[in-house]
Amino acid sequence: MKIIDPSFQVLDSYFRNGRILEQIERCGRVCYKSEEKITQDSAVPFIKGIISRGHESVLEMAQLVMEVSVESETPMFRFFETIPRFCQADRLDRKRFLISGNPRSFRDLARTHSGLKVVKAILCLLTREYPPLFQDLEPKRGWISQDGIEVRLLTPEEVDSLPLELLIKHRALLLHLTVNRAVTHELVRHRVASYLQESQRYCRYGEAKFGGEVAFVRPCFYQEGSREFQLWRRAMEETEAIYLELLKSSSPQAARTVLPNSCKTEIMVHATLAEWLHILRLRASKAADPSMQEIMRPILDDLAGRFPQVFASLKEAMESR
Ligand SMILES: Cc1cc2nc3c(=O)[nH]c(=O)nc-3n(C[C@H](O)[C@H](O)[C@H](O)COP(=O)(O)OP(=O)(O)OC[C@H]3O[C@@H](n4cnc5c(N)ncnc54)[C@H](O)[C@@H]3O)c2cc1C
Repeated sequence: MKIIDPSFQVLDSYFRNGRILEQIERCGRVCYKSEEKITQDSAVPFIKGIISRGHESVLEMAQLVMEVSVESETPMFRFFETIPRFCQADRLDRKRFLISGNPRSFRDLARTHSGLKVVKAILCLLTREYPPLFQDLEPKRGWISQDGIEVRLLTPEEVDSLPLELLIKHRALLLHLTVNRAVTHELVRHRVASYLQESQRYCRYGEAKFGGEVAFVRPCFYQEGSREFQLWRRAMEETEAIYLELLKSSSPQAARTVLPNSCKTEIMVHATLAEWLHILRLRASKAADPSMQEIMRPILDDLAGRFPQVFASLKEAMESR
């Protein structure tokens, strides 16, 4: 049995280097804990496999930010009438709009509103730029560019230079958290975000790649050496022994039914800065579960360093309480 401390990593270099396909693969592989299979050429076949299996939530783990310029506003009005549920859209001026969302949100638009000029123009660009993410949805004659509508992808630098109110709505941030299952259970209640989590159905912790043991997160409630800590430790040891015994005759998804809240898990969280602000406001607060605060406070410190204009005032407010 392994006891570890919670930790996190901000995985922002994929976005800053425009490595969207690699970002999606990295996130998807957390589910299966198959990161060792990542190579220079593995992203495209991985994504094709994900699409063919219908596991499209993996395609939520990246952000595309576009500027749409129109000669007439009518096609934009039609676009807004669709109330695109998972896209963000803002007017920059009379003829220019900012539209962002993850690849899945644009795949859904392609399926449900393929007759709209703005959707056609967006899909024409996205299919050209990221064929593995969109080519399976291409109409027989391909997406046709639309007269009077120009779409371009913003560079990461352009996104980061957006004015504050647009930055927090359109800029997304990916974090990799290693925490216990109780924390992830609470975290996934935040609905305006995308998640991928290590699967206890697929991961067989008895295997050599997991060291043949189960990992648990040290509980922040009990001092090491205390009677409570000893009791907690005994419960984890006994649970691990039963889990490993069950694995001899049953599948991981059956054996996992005995695993407790303290079990270590990994989760990828991809959300806009606006949603991170909301999550941190609730989860770094003293009212939150101490195990949640334990990870969210250092995350807030980190993000306040990266985006002081967005997070510094929340950090100060939390510190003064
Ligand atoms: C201290 C604390 C104690 C808690 N205790 C419990 C508990 O005992 N039991 C329990 O079940 N949960 C509990 N929760 C979870 C809580 O109820 C929320 O589910 C969770 O915090 C997600 O936050 P949210 O709903 O504000 O925002 P998100 O899901 O992150 O959504 C962000 C915003 O989007 C909007 N939004 C999203 N979805 C909808 C929708 N369907 N309709 C309308 N607006 C929407 C809202 O404006 C919302 O503020 C607790 C949370 C905290 C912080």
